[in-house]
Amino acid sequence: MAAIATLGSHCALQVLKGARDEGLRSVLVCERSRESLYRRFAFIDEVIAVDSFTEIAGDGAAASALESSGAVLVPHGTLVAQMSHADVEAIRAPVFGNRHILRWESDRDMKERLMREAGLPTPRAVDGPGEISGMTIAKRQGAAGGKGYFVSSSSEEYEKKRARLIADGVISGDERLYLQEYIPGVLAYLQYFYSPLTGTLEFFGVDSRHESDIDGLARIPADSQAPSMAPSFNVIANSAMVLRESLLPRVYEMGESFVEASARLVKPGMNGPFCIEGVYDDEARFTAFEFSARIVAGTNIYMSGSPYTALIHDEPMSMGRRIAREVRLAEAESRLDDVTT
Ligand code: AMP
Repeated sequence: MAAIATLGSHCALQVLKGARDEGLRSVLVCERSRESLYRRFAFIDEVIAVDSFTEIAGDGAAASALESSGAVLVPHGTLVAQMSHADVEAIRAPVFGNRHILRWESDRDMKERLMREAGLPTPRAVDGPGEISGMTIAKRQGAAGGKGYFVSSSSEEYEKKRARLIADGVISGDERLYLQEYIPGVLAYLQYFYSPLTGTLEFFGVDSRHESDIDGLARIPADSQAPSMAPSFNVIANSAMVLRESLLPRVYEMGESFVEASARLVKPGMNGPFCIEGVYDDEARFTAFEFSARIVAGTNIYMSGSPYTALIHDEPMSMGRRIAREVRLAEAESRLDDVTT
């Protein structure tokens, strides 16, 4: 019987509960400082304690324990944020979905290339601070979760805010920031699951994010806002959304073209969960500023299913459970190699 493993953070509870719901064994790789949290949950069968998540790469005791647990490792945002591309490639346990595509998520240039290949409308990239003409967002590399991001409308404003974030220790002086046109509108994070077993795409749900301290700024009258403030986009929480039904054809279209583009650029393609992240403007047109090539934490809202999974599955279906089901079905058909890398 297959098992599911994941790192203790991000959406570990959802993923491991999903494993239990599908009758699979659940394995948690856990930093010692967080063990007391995860010991509260009876659906976690095995804990591999580590000082750092990077221990699961290579030849150490944690890597061996993970490999011998027989588990499929489900990657999430913490793995992308804390492990290098080389570390991810060095994990000996099978990784759910496509581990190679995680690099395309972390590298801004590769990310842009994949989004272009998928034909997703994206914000205009700004070549450097000297090119800033309208509202521009400065982003850090990797899955930073929006921490240290800031908006500016001129190169002077950019330099002032950047210097302040460096002085505050939020970003480092040699960090290369990525500049992009800022699109105002309604933010939406579109969650999908693609099954290579059946060749079908499921739209799983949509969430919005609460980001500090940009969200708090809306509650402060303009004349009371400090002019030097560089609000950040640090994700604190997620909440549920449903889209106007008329937007759904385009939602599926974007998901399908993303799956097709991934299959062309990074084999075996976008298998399993992913998310396209962007903004709806005043014409209800979607501009995508990001993708995540793995489960996103916004799926934690839908531990008992979402309005969209209720249309596809006749039982409560979280993304974590859907992953476990894919592993279970693949194992039954001797096709685990088709759902892992
Ligand atoms: P990201 O790391 O790209 O997901 O961005 C973190 C947050 O920054 C998002 O959740 C948005 O609030 C904001 N953001 C990123 N890119 C843009 C953009 N081009 N226009 C507007 N907001 C953005």
